[in-house]
Amino acid sequence: MQNRLKNLVIVGGGTAGWMTAAALSSLLSPDDVSITLVESDQIGTVGVGEATIPDIINFNRLLGIPEAEFMKATEATFKLGIEFVDWGRKGQSYIHPFGDHGVDMNGIDFHQYWLQCHKNGLDNPIDDYSLCAVAARQNKFSLPDSNPKSVLSHIRYAYHFDATLYAKFLRKYAQTRGVKRIEGKVEAVSQDAQSGHIETLRLDNGTAVTGDFFFDCTGFRALLLGQKLGVGFMDWSHWLPCDAAQTVASAHNGPLKSYTRSTAKPAGWQWRIPTQRRTGNGHIYSRAYMSDDEAISILLDGLDGDALGDPRQIRFKTGCRETFWSKNCIALGLSSGFLEPLESTSIYLIQQGISRFISLFPDAGLPAAVSDEYNRLMREDFEQVRDFLILHYKATERDDSPFWSYCRTMDVPDTLKRKIELFKAAGRAFRYEDELFAKTSWVAVFLGQSIMPQSVDPIVAALPPQDVARSLDSMHMAMMRAAQNMPTHEEFIARYCAATID
Ligand SMILES: Cc1cc2nc3c(=O)[nH]c(=O)nc-3n(C[C@H](O)[C@H](O)[C@H](O)COP(=O)(O)OP(=O)(O)OC[C@H]3O[C@@H](n4cnc5c(N)ncnc54)[C@H](O)[C@@H]3O)c2cc1C
Repeated sequence: MQNRLKNLVIVGGGTAGWMTAAALSSLLSPDDVSITLVESDQIGTVGVGEATIPDIINFNRLLGIPEAEFMKATEATFKLGIEFVDWGRKGQSYIHPFGDHGVDMNGIDFHQYWLQCHKNGLDNPIDDYSLCAVAARQNKFSLPDSNPKSVLSHIRYAYHFDATLYAKFLRKYAQTRGVKRIEGKVEAVSQDAQSGHIETLRLDNGTAVTGDFFFDCTGFRALLLGQKLGVGFMDWSHWLPCDAAQTVASAHNGPLKSYTRSTAKPAGWQWRIPTQRRTGNGHIYSRAYMSDDEAISILLDGLDGDALGDPRQIRFKTGCRETFWSKNCIALGLSSGFLEPLESTSIYLIQQGISRFISLFPDAGLPAAVSDEYNRLMREDFEQVRDFLILHYKATERDDSPFWSYCRTMDVPDTLKRKIELFKAAGRAFRYEDELFAKTSWVAVFLGQSIMPQSVDPIVAALPPQDVARSLDSMHMAMMRAAQNMPTHEEFIARYCAATID
């Protein structure tokens, strides 16, 4: 008879805590396994307006959540990609789209054809061959067509939403499925004297909560894995030197955007995330290069509409835990590490942690081989995202501030160095193993930030230039036509998932 885990305890009711509770409750019967979530209203959550990547669609589908219902409840809009402004150099802008650039031909990557045309004088940026980027520039949106022959089958999307409302939505979902919620602040944690496993949490109201497996979703505090079990933190701030954010919501001004915008600033960057009722804004910066007051003034100057309140500061350290699973505890969300939201990856990393835990679901004996594998996979996920973020800072010609001079000249991890060199040499980009970011993503940033390969694929280089140019032209025209025929993002939302006015 297998000795199974019977009593799961989640500490923290932010996005991480409620995503974990919802996913576990969708798979486990309350008659079999009890799930308890402890959260403290007194402490609160991070909750800034957030952008996501397409994988979140799978998470919601796994839970059986109808898309329009979720979008209404979280005031969500659609996201087709991210516009990067002033990153490679001032005045330059490109879109990192979801979905592909063009269509690969004869087994050769599309971007090789684009490079060949570009060498022959083509002016159009590679964005012009991505349906998501073309539609985003026109503030249009349409759901993908399941017919692979339709040009609309190239649409991939994610959401912008209010993360606090998402946690609330998932809370209702999880509680309906038997998750028990306890309000209170954890003040003490006791461990088994021999194994060091966490046994009991003592709350400020005197309640004792026992469990045989714990999820540390306590945000930057990392109360269980960091503070109690003493798992160290790997600091990556020498590669990603931003360590603070000023955030504020603003009123909408102009058409509802179907993409996130990230604008480089003298010591960091500023995001713009449109949800249905307001725009979320934040200025991420390095306090070593900029004062808080200056950061606030840059944030406010960069708003499209009136600020709705005063800016709020959040401080952070970039990096991750040395291990994510120790003894009978896993850290998920901000307690497991933090990588700035440049590519909207934090919620994705929570999702990865949950799905990796589920695929490795242990017996009560908690075999070391299982936790070792979890730690290996999560470390790889964090490092791959880290490298992609560093690329945005490294691939720049900017020398107009000490911050950008540092980023341009800093040494980068060998894993990233190899990718940059390979692309520079022959325009090659690969997706390794389970890597999150596909070739299109790497190519978008390489080309968008002016890393041009020295040579083009020899097979493409040997093709008649006019044939290649004609193929690209017809792809571009097809995408322009498809985008023109789409409804505006605003019209689509109004019809499909408008949030109800309270
Ligand atoms: C500036 C910024 C911008 C971001 N933008 C994005 C984005 O665009 N896209 C994206 O994917 N992610 C983004 N993130 C990350 C995202 O906000 C977090 O990953 C996500 O909200 C998860 O947070 P969390 O649940 O881990 O922590 P929190 O939201 O901090 O929640 C922690 C929970 O733990 C509880 N808690 C803490 N201590 C105790 C205690 N002693 N007893 C009981 N309960 C306790 C709190 O009450 C709270 O419920 C951003 C983060 C920051 C800082």
